[in-house]
Amino acid sequence: MRYYFMRYPGGKAKAVTFSYDDGLKTDIRLLERLNHYGIKATLNINNSFIGRTSGKPKLTQEDIQTYILDAGHEVAVHGDNHRAPGILRSVDIIRDVLDCRLGLEKRFGRIVKGMAYPDSGVRIFQGGMTYQQVRQCLQDVGIVYARSLSGDNTLFRMPEDWYAWNPSAHHANPNVVSYAEEFVAIDFSKLSSAWRYPRLFYLWGHSYEFDNNNNWELLDTLGQILGGKEDTWYATNMEIYEYTKAYESLETSADGTIIYNPTLRKIWFEIDGKPYEIEPGQTLKIEE
Ligand SMILES: [Zn+2]
Repeated sequence: MRYYFMRYPGGKAKAVTFSYDDGLKTDIRLLERLNHYGIKATLNINNSFIGRTSGKPKLTQEDIQTYILDAGHEVAVHGDNHRAPGILRSVDIIRDVLDCRLGLEKRFGRIVKGMAYPDSGVRIFQGGMTYQQVRQCLQDVGIVYARSLSGDNTLFRMPEDWYAWNPSAHHANPNVVSYAEEFVAIDFSKLSSAWRYPRLFYLWGHSYEFDNNNNWELLDTLGQILGGKEDTWYATNMEIYEYTKAYESLETSADGTIIYNPTLRKIWFEIDGKPYEIEPGQTLKIEE
């Protein structure tokens, strides 16, 4: 009985993704630095706040098109009114998420199915609301993943539940630099077979925090540690979700020696440390 592990595109065992919230103008500086380091991000936007000038100035529709989408980053739902689903009524969860999704899709002419929970998200519940109900509401309006928060994910694991996608750390976490160093230092040639699962470094935050704390150099430090690595795939949240779903669509014979790829993507994986790749529509026979 062998271990099958997904590998990211190119056969890579590591991926990095960033997730930044609220769509403020400071995102432009964030994205300029991420582009410099070749890091991809998902920007979580409140549709009804786009272009708002009161309070902290928000990105305009043109900003989002130019700096996020045209540069290959992702736009995701963050609630039309930035409301925490755990303390809303079901009907309001659906409305806040669906209004945001409809608005973003209309503005940008593309499918938007990712999300980051706003505010206290699904950490606090009241009024009889449960996590299962929130997840059902999101599924009902076509959301396929949602970033959550529950402690540091320092094993750099992929999500087991896409509606409770737990990041590695917030950028203000006092351990964030050591986590990043630990991540890049993982040497797969030294890992025992059960520990060869793919690793994901997932950083989240708000770009205005760099302004507030006057510490943009932290972003450069992280970019220098995490960026430009041959063994790492830089992807948005949605790219990671879609690739993983394609991998999970692979069909295998009962003894595991015949593998069929029914998807439109080339997929990489390894079996007990040996690398394989499989083209769309291909059937692969591996030795017993
Ligand atoms: Zn937010």
